[in-house]
This record gives sequence, structure tokens and C-alpha cells, in this order.
Amino acid sequence: MYITDLLEEDAEIAIKVVIVGNGAVGKSSMIQKYCRGIFTAEYKKTIGVDFLEKRLSVQGEDVRLMLWDTAGQEEFDCITRAYYRGAQACVIAFSTTDRDSFYQVRRWKKKVEEECGSIPMVLVQNKMDLLYNSQVDSFEVDRLASCLGMRLIKTSVRENLNVNKVFHWLAECQLRILARQSQEYSLIQIGAGGLTSISQSDFLSQYERSWTDQQTTKRRRKHQTRDQIKQLCDTRAFFLAPYTTKHTVKHSAPTLCKRL
Ligand code: GDP
Ligand code: MG
Repeated sequence: MYITDLLEEDAEIAIKVVIVGNGAVGKSSMIQKYCRGIFTAEYKKTIGVDFLEKRLSVQGEDVRLMLWDTAGQEEFDCITRAYYRGAQACVIAFSTTDRDSFYQVRRWKKKVEEECGSIPMVLVQNKMDLLYNSQVDSFEVDRLASCLGMRLIKTSVRENLNVNKVFHWLAECQLRILARQSQEYSLIQIGAGGLTSISQSDFLSQYERSWTDQQTTKRRRKHQTRDQIKQLCDTRAFFLAPYTTKHTVKHSAPTLCKRL
């Protein structure tokens, strides 16, 4: 048994992803394309929030992405802020043909960080099919991405260019975080110097005990998380849920849950 095996085989990892950016940059289109495979040229302003789910397999793990679409417009600001809570990954999108949406990227990042702390984020430049009408220079886009320490992915939802890549990458980042957390937890449990100061059989029995403890903790955590997920999936319940601080949310991030 390897430490990495401690991510349970029968568990599904649920990740809440928020997509933010100015209005009309293609956020709703991106979610629709990724989850339902459809694209419509018609623009319907998103009111409040909406979310769709997508199941995928990343590095042999079953992952369930919950993609929260938010209205970019300021008039819905008070609603969208509530929806950032508990997000574990984020897409910040701007449009190739909208310079202001590019200028607002920093502000969106700050807003998400205020609510969610430091979570995996990706910068998406959408509408690459309209490059002939570009309002941003590729040099300044690269510079912004490196300045913010963000991975940049250029997409065209219309042409289905790199849309999958965005979400796959975020899922991979979150899996890495979970694996690291699981590993750190195991190392603390097993204890430093154990291998040299005790016999192999003592070590194995301690290891087994520690592994059993972890399974119990995980099972307990999974039950809690299942309740949290149910709460997240119920819009009314979400709004009625008590406010959790940034700090609490950060530590409740690993959301291993059994298939419902
Ligand atoms: P949101 O306000 O950010 O959710 O933006 P929408 O997803 O509603 O998209 C705004 C408009 O941009 C719609 O008319 C979409 O059809 C269009 N759109 C979205 N993505 C693309 C794209 O990659 N290329 C082009 N040409 N149009 C797009
Ligand atoms: Mg929208």
C-alpha cells in the first residue's frame, strides 16, 4: 500500500469551480459547451447564478466538477459574492475583443481571493476566433499572466478550442493539492524516525493502525462533505447557510464524497 493509495478508490472527488469575468466574455457559453456540447451565438445576460455538473476522469480518479456560472455585472454583485464561498478552483475569463474585460482581470482575481483565499486559478482569453478584431496585444496578455502568476489558456468556445483543457487543468491542480494534503497527513500520523527506531513488524502494525484511523476520519469527513454538497446543490439552502469565514472554507477544501 502506497501513501497515494490513501485517496480512496471508491470515492469521487467533487470540485466547486467558479467562472468569473466581465459580462459577455463567454462564461455561460463556456460552461454550456463543456457540459452540454452546445454553443449559441445568441447572448442572454445571466441573471444571478447558475451551475452545471460534469464528470470526468483525471489520472484515474473520478472527478465531479460543479461549474458555477456567475453574472459579471456589478448589479448582481451581492449575489455573486455569496457564490464564491467554498470554491476550490476558478476560471477568470476575458474576451479578445473587449479591452475593458482584460483590464478588469486583476479586480476579478482580487475579488475571488478575498472570498476563497489562494485556490488554483486559470486565466482564459476567450473568442480567439475573433483574433482579427483583437483589442489586446498578445505580449501584454502574456505579461499580465506571468505578473499574476497564472496559467494562460487561449480559447474559442465557438470553435471548441481548448475548452476541455481549462477544466482538466484545474481538476489536475486540485487533485495535486488533495494528494499533497493526504501525504502530509500520513507523514504526521506515521511519525518521524519510525523506520529506524522500531522493528519492521511494529512499524507495520503502527502503520496499519494509522491507516485505519485515517479511513475512519475520511468516512466521517465524507459524510460531512456529502451534507455540504447537498447544501451547495440546493440554491435556497446555500443562501440560508450560515456565513463561513475564508479560513474555515480553506480548511474544509478536500471534498471527498461517496457517489450519491
Ligand atoms: P457571459 O456574459 O460571459 O456569460 O457571456 P456569454 O456566454 O453569454 O456570451 C456572450 C456572447 O459571446 C454570446 O453571444 C456568445 O455566443 C458569444 N461567444 C461566447 N464565446 C464565444 C467565442 O469563443 N467566439 C465568439 N465569436 N463568440 C463567442
Ligand atoms: Mg452569462
